[in-house]
Amino acid sequence: MADSKLDPGKSYGWTGKILRVNLTDKTVSVTPTDPYKEYLGGMGVANKIMYDEVAPGTDPLSPENKVVFAVGPLTATGVPLAGRTTIASLSTYTKDHQVVDAHTGGMIGAAIKKAGWDAIIIEGASDEPVYLKIDDDDVEIKPADKVWGMGTRATTEALSRREGTDFCVATIGPAGENLLPYACIINSRNHSAGAGTASVLGSKKLKALVVRGTQPIYVADPQAVADLSDYMLREIVGSNNNHVVPSTQQEWAEYFDKGSRWTAQKGLTWALAEGGPIETGEPKPGEINTVGYRCMKSFKDEGPEAEKYTIKMDGCHSCPIHCYSDMRVPASAANGGYEITGNTCVPNFPFTNYMIGILGDKTPVAAASEDALVWDQVTGSVMDDLGLWCNYGQIYRDIAHC
Ligand code: SF4
Repeated sequence: MADSKLDPGKSYGWTGKILRVNLTDKTVSVTPTDPYKEYLGGMGVANKIMYDEVAPGTDPLSPENKVVFAVGPLTATGVPLAGRTTIASLSTYTKDHQVVDAHTGGMIGAAIKKAGWDAIIIEGASDEPVYLKIDDDDVEIKPADKVWGMGTRATTEALSRREGTDFCVATIGPAGENLLPYACIINSRNHSAGAGTASVLGSKKLKALVVRGTQPIYVADPQAVADLSDYMLREIVGSNNNHVVPSTQQEWAEYFDKGSRWTAQKGLTWALAEGGPIETGEPKPGEINTVGYRCMKSFKDEGPEAEKYTIKMDGCHSCPIHCYSDMRVPASAANGGYEITGNTCVPNFPFTNYMIGILGDKTPVAAASEDALVWDQVTGSVMDDLGLWCNYGQIYRDIAHC
């Protein structure tokens, strides 16, 4: 599309606006994205805002620290794999407390962008627990006393019931409220953002962001974006280049590697799929519509026991990989975990990877057994609910070593 066809009244890619929320005086204001566009992407924008606005040596748990949620110009445009969000703040647990950024998937990035914001700057601190409701341009700071103290799953459900199920909830758990340095933010029930950002939100008494976005994101040349997205899905994500091969010998494949996450294979199913089992089969390179079957993560993490519990693969906004599994495990609920389990990363298999992996035969639980699967789901549920997922499971390694 030639430039002359662009509408000067529309913003393309970027929404052009940054939301600033001051929790001390309960004010909300808007600043333009323009000064930050050259830092391209949520990571650049969030880090530049921290660099400009938070002085070195600031106590990370003081009102002077800020938390910046930021997305990029491709977020929510339909481009594959553009659904992640950067959350920058001062580190709670590293030397000198320098700027760190957490990265999260889920739906929160797309919700923020569709609500009309390239970034959200949280500053100051509230005296009472609050949550931030963002409904497009309508922004409110609301009391959170009823959900303060709740786990992340219960908070997500309570705020979804209160505001509507089309809102995306990003919340902290008791770990963040109690300022544990490793605490994480969980959005869309199962997607974590680490780097201690939840304890900074806890210090500001901000329990959650609850966001609904209904606005379109414009791109200058929709056909070019669609063509490039198809190319990316077919020839890059959907290829079997770069050593991305299935884990078993398949009819079409020259190579396979038992360690690959590409575990789809004939006869392997999402056994609890709605409407009956769905076979993962043998997705072939370049088949856009079968990319999502390739990574049967429950089977990869837990072995054959997992198949009968698997509902489907799940994942982040606009990502075709869908790298984690939703499972229904009644024995998890019976032992203090969630019945429906799943997370984008380590909480899928904390016990297997870090307890059995480190302790070996000092634990009576065998890897890839029914018991290990249940232990994994219970442990993962508890850590998720506390909001204590961290640094690819460092805390589980610490516990195992202790
Ligand atoms: S679904 Fe998995 S692979 Fe895709 S963006 Fe999310 S974490 Fe990454």
